[in-house]
Amino acid sequence: MENHINNLKKIVGDSNALHRKEDIHPFLEDWRGQIKGSTPLILFPNSTNDVQRIVYYCHENDIKIVSQGGNTSLCGANVPNSSDQKLEIVINTSKMNTIIEVDQFNQSIIVESGCILQNIQNTAEDHDLLFPLSLSAEGSCQIGGNVSTNAGGVNVLKYGMARDQVMGIEVVLPDGSLFSDLKSLRKNNTGYDLKQLFIGAEGTLGVITKVSLRLSSSPEREITSMVSVQKVDDAITLLKETKKRFGDNVTAFEFISQSCLVSINKFLNHIKLPLGFEDSWQIIFEVINHDEDALLDFLEEHVNKGLITNGLIAKNEKERNDFWLVRHSISEAEKLSGRGVHHDISLPIKKIPEFLETTIPAMEKVAGKSTVYTFGHLGDGNLHFTKKQPEEMNGDDFMNFSKDINAVVYENAESLGGSFSAEHGIGSKLKDDLVKFSDPIKVDLMKKIKKTLDPKNIMNPDKLIDT
Ligand SMILES: Cc1cc2nc3c(=O)[nH]c(=O)nc-3n(C[C@H](O)[C@H](O)[C@H](O)COP(=O)(O)OP(=O)(O)OC[C@H]3O[C@@H](n4cnc5c(N)ncnc54)[C@H](O)[C@@H]3O)c2cc1C
Repeated sequence: MENHINNLKKIVGDSNALHRKEDIHPFLEDWRGQIKGSTPLILFPNSTNDVQRIVYYCHENDIKIVSQGGNTSLCGANVPNSSDQKLEIVINTSKMNTIIEVDQFNQSIIVESGCILQNIQNTAEDHDLLFPLSLSAEGSCQIGGNVSTNAGGVNVLKYGMARDQVMGIEVVLPDGSLFSDLKSLRKNNTGYDLKQLFIGAEGTLGVITKVSLRLSSSPEREITSMVSVQKVDDAITLLKETKKRFGDNVTAFEFISQSCLVSINKFLNHIKLPLGFEDSWQIIFEVINHDEDALLDFLEEHVNKGLITNGLIAKNEKERNDFWLVRHSISEAEKLSGRGVHHDISLPIKKIPEFLETTIPAMEKVAGKSTVYTFGHLGDGNLHFTKKQPEEMNGDDFMNFSKDINAVVYENAESLGGSFSAEHGIGSKLKDDLVKFSDPIKVDLMKKIKKTLDPKNIMNPDKLIDT
């Protein structure tokens, strides 16, 4: 093993490798620290060529590889599992962070996979364009991770998921060869669209080294509103009314339960809650290309109808950021508030009230009464849904119920026509559920694709699907 480690270190140089236990520690777990692993080696290649040489060496010597970006995975997809029987190393793309080209005529950008999402957004803005992919982890997640997880976020309602932004891709395949399809074309009907295979593959089919991304026109105006409502049915009615009034100009529609606000107030009390935390639900929504008066009229109308109980419109960028900070702080507050069983599900929007009405008591039957955090992308029917540890229960005892809690949540979601995984992916956490809830033909096809591209099972083994 020591011999392989030395040979692999030589490819990138000592300054681009971590081998000491104390240095490696931050690269061994998912963002919540719930799924932990091990590896003797983290490599930080500087180029596609470095990646090819590493992968070729690993392929020849049957060494497993986990690709890592910003390590913000919420399902353990980024965690290596090396053992005495199996050497599994990490390729971390942080040093491959060059913005290669911005094309304002074509509205596209080509970047290396280690570029941090926020840097791509800022570069687009510098060119009067918009890269609309946006999520709470945008300051640390990397575009290679976003593409590999087909990330969603707050603007899916108008602009779609990561998949919808990808025009071209470059991937080092499991044998070290290079699949290059980096064209920035909107039309290219030349057989199977193979880049789609690598989007959402969670690093199981290759290491993404570059991507070409679609940019959008910057909106002329952007108005952000924060409102409160009493019931989840009211939130859904408001979504319908907002879309009816503003159509495709609604870019985001996020909802937050009171329990999340209380938690922010308790654990992150430097964060301002513009509408306090008294109401059952708060909503942040954004409308583009309309003026403030149009939104003000809309809010007044729905306050008068009794749908909205309280509301604000951001008067400037600072206020807008204050609103969004509330939404983006929920995961951090949740993390600080102790153990929880987390879910990322999607549902037909009109079924959300029924889901909440039936699932919360069903979870209580399994593991007792406790706080539930509900928040997420209401506009897409995507709920982040967490049952916290009951106060009187020991943390480990509570976590022993996770499997049963998950079964209740996922079965209820699936029976209402939803999905057990909306945007965070499968990783190691949901592998069994993927098999349980998928058409067997889909599972069989996935295994065939994995076996064809990666017959030695080099790339991120034990994640997504077993062959
Ligand atoms: C606070 C917070 C909020 C979040 N909000 C959202 C959200 O709104 N929407 C959403 O969809 N997700 C969200 N996520 C989870 C989400 O998956 C990630 O934040 C992001 O897309 C992962 O990027 P990363 O660079 O951190 O990837 P990692 O965590 O490092 O890796 C994730 C997966 O991608 C693979 N991977 C990484 N880089 C490469 C590469 N170059 N080639 C091949 N495979 C690669 C890894 O092997 C792994 O399977 C959130 C996470 C956090 C912590």
